[in-house]
Amino acid sequence: MSRIRLEGLTKRFGNARRGSTAAVDSVSLDISHGEFVVLLGPSGCGKSTLLRMIAGLLPPSAGRLLLDDRDITHVPPKDRDLAMVFQSYALYPHLPVARNLGFPLRTRGWSRAAIDRKVTEVASVLGLEELLKRRPKELSGGQRQRVALGRALVRDPGAFLMDEPLSNLDAKLRTATRTELTALHRQLGSTFLYVTHDQVEAMTMATRIAVLDKGRLEQAGTPSEVYDTPASVFVAGFMGSPPMNLLDARLESRDGRVHVTARDIDVPLEHPADEPPSRDVVLGVRPEHLTIAGERVPEGPRFRGAVDAIENLGNEEIALCSVGGARLVARGPRPLGLRAGENVTFTTSPHHVHLFDPASGRRLV
Ligand code: ATP
Repeated sequence: MSRIRLEGLTKRFGNARRGSTAAVDSVSLDISHGEFVVLLGPSGCGKSTLLRMIAGLLPPSAGRLLLDDRDITHVPPKDRDLAMVFQSYALYPHLPVARNLGFPLRTRGWSRAAIDRKVTEVASVLGLEELLKRRPKELSGGQRQRVALGRALVRDPGAFLMDEPLSNLDAKLRTATRTELTALHRQLGSTFLYVTHDQVEAMTMATRIAVLDKGRLEQAGTPSEVYDTPASVFVAGFMGSPPMNLLDARLESRDGRVHVTARDIDVPLEHPADEPPSRDVVLGVRPEHLTIAGERVPEGPRFRGAVDAIENLGNEEIALCSVGGARLVARGPRPLGLRAGENVTFTTSPHHVHLFDPASGRRLV
């Protein structure tokens, strides 16, 4: 039963002469037993490097790694009680599924009968019973992915490490496999640590998302926390599609209230911020919280703008708008009842306003 603790894990690549850059920069994270933690971030942010250090495939440049209370920073991969599932599946093409599944147990010296028993058990958990005699090339991508998972499962590891395991699957199969993985996690109750750049995978499967940017941990929280209260401008802009509207703005005190103003936008905040009343901020509003002020919309701060274009997503529409020269995106159920070229009045609720510090990018309220 495994709790994984990362303490200031760092990986620098490069050499003394050319200088080195930190692909992973002092990441600390405490992963409890049974969590499904997704490491999320754009390409090159250091997710795979971090996972590879945890798996023992790359030595850290600094920091410590603990499994339960055991320091495993320098323990070889095979002695870590962690099982890695690779994007490429890494199956043996000449071996049938049953032998692929049993392989890790054979190398550990298990008896034939014990291996057969375990392989049967895992095949039943993953629905692979009918496929045991086939070779990998006779399987679909989704089936191969399940065999790769099965090969990790036979070892009863303390935790599963997965690096973009769904990236070779088509969209429909990805959705189905996401559901299967979530169910499997619930059934096994083990710790899952999963790397992806796909925020939908993260939002739908994770119990906690760790968002990385340029090797640094920006935020770790439940999917709702990361979406509803992003800790930084980076997280705000990365989570959500289309992403949060972000504008250079100012906080000002007027008529006993603190207002946030940006171009033609002026939103009085409900609770006065603790900040000095006059300062630069970054204002964030999610597209779904920018409403067109029609008759049914309750009173709120209003600002005028124009609709530049409408995108039809089937169930929803996206309105690309401009307000005082700034580009804003609104999103809502279809039809929004808007036309390109139309002048409209927008509103938003002070509850839905996010404020960030322009210098550090960190969240203010
Ligand atoms: P992706 O989603 O594209 O796989 P990632 O977030 O997993 O990206 P990493 O593969 O961890 O990112 O890479 C992080 C950074 O470290 C990148 O800038 C990459 O170029 C660099 N890097 C990774 N491996 C090495 C290496 N062996 N030598 C030098 N630089 C490396």
